[in-house]
Amino acid sequence: MKKIAVLGSTGSIGVKTLEVIGDYPDQLSATALSARSRVDLLRSQIDDHQPAWVNVTDGEAGAVAELAARYSGRLTRGVEGLVEMVRQMDADMVVVSTVGAVGIRPTLAAIERGLDVALANKEVLVTAGAMVMEQARQRGIRLLPIDSEHNAVAQCLQGNCAEAVDRIILTASGGPFRNRSAAEVENVSVDEALAHPTWAMGPKITIDSATMMNKGFEVIEAMWLFDLPLDRIDVVIHPESLVHSMVEFVDGSVLAQMGLTDMYFPIQNVLLAPNRLANKYESLDLTRMGSLNFEPVSFERFPCLRLAYEAAREGGTAPAVLNAANEVAVDGFLNGRIQFGSIPKIIERVLGASDTQTADSLEAIEAADVWARNRAYELFD
Ligand code: MG
Repeated sequence: MKKIAVLGSTGSIGVKTLEVIGDYPDQLSATALSARSRVDLLRSQIDDHQPAWVNVTDGEAGAVAELAARYSGRLTRGVEGLVEMVRQMDADMVVVSTVGAVGIRPTLAAIERGLDVALANKEVLVTAGAMVMEQARQRGIRLLPIDSEHNAVAQCLQGNCAEAVDRIILTASGGPFRNRSAAEVENVSVDEALAHPTWAMGPKITIDSATMMNKGFEVIEAMWLFDLPLDRIDVVIHPESLVHSMVEFVDGSVLAQMGLTDMYFPIQNVLLAPNRLANKYESLDLTRMGSLNFEPVSFERFPCLRLAYEAAREGGTAPAVLNAANEVAVDGFLNGRIQFGSIPKIIERVLGASDTQTADSLEAIEAADVWARNRAYELFD
């Protein structure tokens, strides 16, 4: 029985992770849960999974007090409480599916304890990749990627040595605006941007998919996870989202991982590894799909992807600045304060004005994050 802690259990990946855990009661159990603020959903998850530990990171005080009164396990609050839970709970694996910078400290705490870490939180590697990878290396622990692309690459790499890898090819659906020009998407509505053609995800990541900043973050994560230079990480548009990513080896062989577009699959893969067990889904019928398409991606058309490569090349705190400016800009768009086309413009101006530092401490990363947020807000029209 593998005991799993699910951080961010009420988000879309967290909910899916608990679905997988519930489907394999002889192999998996949820020993600890954390929710940012959705206490109602957390309460029903507690009823279903009976975790020994629970954390509410930022919940409304009345709802948390009500939960505390009827929950008999250990309840902690706030980010401090989340880190305390990770330090003390009895678990084999920590699934980090929180959203935002809040995932960094519990991830480091899990690594410190030598626990397996399954990562779905982008900010952890995008902003603190150097620190996290160094600590993981020192403790000899593996980071298991849940994101469909990185999970695909990890599967393709199995049984091959690092020297055999020539490049990684991350696939991208291209989002809802793949066939529209930069001018045409300048002032699309929030609803249009939220209508992702292949994946059902939360609003922030859906907008990040429409701008392809999400793919930019994934390039940065791939650089850390697979220890490859940026010029050996490519992106190709694949509208059907069935090939989740590929690895090209030095002998010209390309391995691709395919599957239905549902996060259940990569989550199941990570939670049950090294085993593979049958699941409740029907098999992928390629004959019904007809054809698979691949197109080059344009940096002019998707400036956010270019900005991500540039920030990664710059290194240090630049990716943290990229991430923070993007978060503010996307939030501004979702709240009707800026146009869709302003998202990359704001990020580019913030990056251009930033003074890159080495990202060797959480304080340095947080300082860059705060500076970039403030700067980005100042640029709202
Ligand atoms: Mg992805």
